[in-house]
Amino acid sequence: MRSCRWFPLLALAGTLGAQPAYDLLIKGGHVIDPKNNLSRVMDVAVADGRIARLAPDIPASQAKKTVHAAGLYVTPGIVDIHVHVYAGTGLARVLTGDSSVYPDAFSFRTGVTTMVDAGTAGWRNFPDFRQRIIDRFRTRVLAFLNVVGGGMGLENESDPANMSAAEAVKMARQHPDVIVGFKVAHFRGDGWPDIDHAVKAGSELGLPVMVDFGYVKGERNLGNLLRGKLRPGDIYTHCYAGHRDEVVDGKLNPAMLDGRKRGILFDVGHGGGSFYWNIAVPALEARFYPDSISTDLHTGSMNAGMKDMPNIMSKLLNLGVPLEEVIRQSTWNPARAIRRPELGHLDAGAEADIALLRVEQGSFGFLDAAGARLAGKRRIVAELTVRKGAVVWDLNGIAGQDWKSFPYKRREP
Ligand SMILES: [Zn+2]
Repeated sequence: MRSCRWFPLLALAGTLGAQPAYDLLIKGGHVIDPKNNLSRVMDVAVADGRIARLAPDIPASQAKKTVHAAGLYVTPGIVDIHVHVYAGTGLARVLTGDSSVYPDAFSFRTGVTTMVDAGTAGWRNFPDFRQRIIDRFRTRVLAFLNVVGGGMGLENESDPANMSAAEAVKMARQHPDVIVGFKVAHFRGDGWPDIDHAVKAGSELGLPVMVDFGYVKGERNLGNLLRGKLRPGDIYTHCYAGHRDEVVDGKLNPAMLDGRKRGILFDVGHGGGSFYWNIAVPALEARFYPDSISTDLHTGSMNAGMKDMPNIMSKLLNLGVPLEEVIRQSTWNPARAIRRPELGHLDAGAEADIALLRVEQGSFGFLDAAGARLAGKRRIVAELTVRKGAVVWDLNGIAGQDWKSFPYKRREP
């Protein structure tokens, strides 16, 4: 190997005081960077927490630490735009409490570096959510702000009296660095007050809304939502749920195609009750791919069929969606959906959020939200995660040094 052959020379350079240009080098991995239409073996160098350079061959001598990634896929850090992470409030059995998950307790081990909370907090309690969660964790946490003041589980999400576009706009103006749009969910009432408030708030600030459409009723149906109410760039989450006639008798609802033509974005939002094989398979067979893959993470979904981003990505991969598309749907597309073009790619200068993924071959099984199983031959596993240039997850210790040569120091007990 070349690096070995030149080692004495490099060691000499070291003694002469030459400093390696890069902090971290990921060497020999198959880079998939959909924004840049890149899918080939490349080296990725990181310096000062940012992507420094991508090139076919960057010498290991130029980096303080080298991770050998042959056989792995190197992708932008995964962007999950539908999670529930308003934990720690002490409230039981609600998303604004014990059903939420602390960001760092789940993100990095799944290749995720950016999470977008989907309306767990509303315009009344957002400051508490920010100081309790967003500002405290290493995971980049952004948010869709609920137009219902108390967010999820504290107030009736079907009562228009709890909704306010004006208050939501006021709160979003105070937190433009982290609020990326507005959310509504679980609406059971008549008419469209939830959608109207969210779209009004979104229009005022030029931000997208993410819609969990709740319950359909008469005129409140998928066609009217996707053909009229939502704007291009708005996000329809739970797109393979089937609860709102997304697929009927194995046939894709034409309203889905009309919505897509208008520029509505479709997000998976798997969750505990929003992804079923009998909906997803016919939709994907009709080549109705999601714009974005997301978890709808909470303590229920993570322990059932959803599990985590790599598991959902594996489901789509096993249903025939090409790996490059699956990565696009998990990185660059969601970054664009939340209008954060600085995220979800490996451009030089971008903050160094990187995932190293392994695609295992074998006999695997995948559960949907009903507990039905699909057999598959490929599983995506998060091998190593880099956030802001630092290794924050390393499943097999590939960034570590063998313990026999490790320079242990005596440690205080
Ligand atoms: Zn959700």
